Amino acid sequence: GATLGVMGGGQLGRMFVHAAQAMGYATAVLEADAGSPAGQASQHHIAAGYTDAQGLSALAQCSAAITTEFENVPAQALRTLAAQRPVAPGAEAVAVCQDRAAEKLHFQRCGVPCAPFAVIETAQQLAAVPDALLPGILKTSRLGYDGKGQARVADRAGLAAAWASLQHAPCVLEQRLPLAHEISVVLARGADGACVHLPVQQNLHREGILAVTQVPAPDVPQALQQQAVHCAEAVAGSLDYVGVLCVEFFVLADGRLVANEMAPRPHNSGHYSIDACDVSQFELQVRAMCGLPLAAPRLHSPAVMLNLLGDLWFGADGAERQPPWAQVLALPGVHLHLYGKAEPRRGRKMGHLTVTAADAAAARAVALQVSALLGLAAY
Ligand code: ATP
Ligand code: MG
Ligand code: MG
Repeated sequence: GATLGVMGGGQLGRMFVHAAQAMGYATAVLEADAGSPAGQASQHHIAAGYTDAQGLSALAQCSAAITTEFENVPAQALRTLAAQRPVAPGAEAVAVCQDRAAEKLHFQRCGVPCAPFAVIETAQQLAAVPDALLPGILKTSRLGYDGKGQARVADRAGLAAAWASLQHAPCVLEQRLPLAHEISVVLARGADGACVHLPVQQNLHREGILAVTQVPAPDVPQALQQQAVHCAEAVAGSLDYVGVLCVEFFVLADGRLVANEMAPRPHNSGHYSIDACDVSQFELQVRAMCGLPLAAPRLHSPAVMLNLLGDLWFGADGAERQPPWAQVLALPGVHLHLYGKAEPRRGRKMGHLTVTAADAAAARAVALQVSALLGLAAY
């Protein structure tokens, strides 16, 4: 059978590899780290950096089509690969998603509202920031994730100090908005423009990191969910996007919907689809990159996903421990996913679990029991 290539060796690559293998493909992972989550699961592992010419050439050699699991692969590497093999998503779309300023300008081009913002790349731009953007959040334009590379700023003095602490990197200052809820849309778009999407996720973040995803979204009206889907489809369409795309949204206290950011790949908030939908976001990634039909996913069970951060591997005394999996797995409808990362660290995504049940109330009840067993905050 054919081999599918993936740039990046993290957990998203691992779950992509699982889906590809289930459909009869072999996989090749390009990742410098020898023991990576995806590398462990893949038939072929090319141990090289994303810009290594030999590594890229080896990946193109063995792969019928190539995708990415890592948001920050150099766009140039994707262009190099695309000269030899189909690459989805394409370099230009990924480049927009990699840069907050470009991403926000793209939202605006599509008529999708986002938080009022200013680009800060020079001291002049810093000085010219309108007062209306404060209090705000200063975010590096590139390479931030899980709330890293961000600072909340109250006033101009705080803004200047925060920009200095971010080494004067190119940044975007966003107005801090009153959030009522957060949701996300995971869609897949084919080369023919056909689009399907997962049911809309409602997400709870803690300290900048996704903590809980609930589907169906319990607190957001259907009409607003539909609006989010339309926005995400408009964004994908105008990028001529092929593959899986996630767009994150805020629902504001006054009920307005604004786009936050997007990711050119499957997304943490879509992991529940493995256990709760008849087509997962990773199967959609395989289908899209291979030019196969995109079936619209159907949610067969209400679901709650809990992220499992490295913190759970440390007891109250700070000593390393195993979380109490046997107790957790004794509960009904618990699907445990661990990513094969050897070293737990605080804040590091080690795995997730999805609770499925016949109705949303039952899923929530079990998820709260799991949370209590693991020492996670209730939600
Ligand atoms: P990810 O890991 O999702 O890529 P990130 O580091 O790119 O995260 P953002 O998604 O920009 O960070 O922000 C993280 C979280 O911070 C958001 O999910 C939201 O809870 C909060 N946040 C971000 N921007 C704003 C804003 N303008 N106003 C209020 N809260 C915000
Ligand atoms: Mg982000
Ligand atoms: Mg985010």
